[in-house]
Amino acid sequence: MLAVERLSHSFRNGAEETAVLHDLNFRVEKGEMVALLGSSGSGKSTLLNLMAGLMKPTQGSILIAGHPIEKMNENRLAEFRRTHIGFIFQSYELIPHLTVRENVELPLVFQSVNAKDRKDRAMKLLHQVGIGEKSELFPSQLSGGQQQRVSIARSLITNPAIVFADEPTGNLDTKTETEIIDLLIHLNRHSGITFVIVTHEHEVASRTQRILQLRDGYMLENSQEGAAG
Ligand code: ADP
Ligand code: MG
Repeated sequence: MLAVERLSHSFRNGAEETAVLHDLNFRVEKGEMVALLGSSGSGKSTLLNLMAGLMKPTQGSILIAGHPIEKMNENRLAEFRRTHIGFIFQSYELIPHLTVRENVELPLVFQSVNAKDRKDRAMKLLHQVGIGEKSELFPSQLSGGQQQRVSIARSLITNPAIVFADEPTGNLDTKTETEIIDLLIHLNRHSGITFVIVTHEHEVASRTQRILQLRDGYMLENSQEGAAG
């Protein structure tokens, strides 16, 4: 599903170049749930943004479902992202003046799906993530955990091949964190969705099937099986 090959990345600021990721090589199989673990500044978000096609790497290759995304031009990549990749943010990134249901439908609006089909699919997903009854409320009327459920539903509406989540429980209390990770595990087991979850918490990482560990932009060799594996 995902193959990262000889991937390196540097940020350039004028004449200064900072290497952030160093020769990363790994794969994620279809249906796997993998954690990307590392402390703050280790390069997790940079790696996730590269894998989701939000930035181009300085070197190396990223294949999603066999497609090398770093070779795609801007239009092709935008289209590929819309149809193959889901993304969940730490801060939910919901649109405040749209209802919960409209937020979930939004990716389909860009694909010109008709209103009835959009609504049906959004409602199905909202029930799946446990907040079907909140569909006509606005994000500000929901708790953080409920807002993250909306964002999870939105990430799934296009039937993506893979979903990337950047610290999805970073703004949540421990109990809500457990509920959200439970939900992601459930979606992975029952719908076969492939997840890559970024976290700096070992407890969260250990609930996935496999842990990829970053330290200062290097992937550690002892990246290990998680508790659920
Ligand atoms: P993490 O998500 O693990 O906290 P990041 O990927 O955000 O780590 O950052 C890794 C390193 O790259 C940090 O040292 C950070 O300062 C640096 N970095 C991130 N984004 C940029 C940028 N746009 N320009 C320059 N340096 C950056
Ligand atoms: Mg980060």
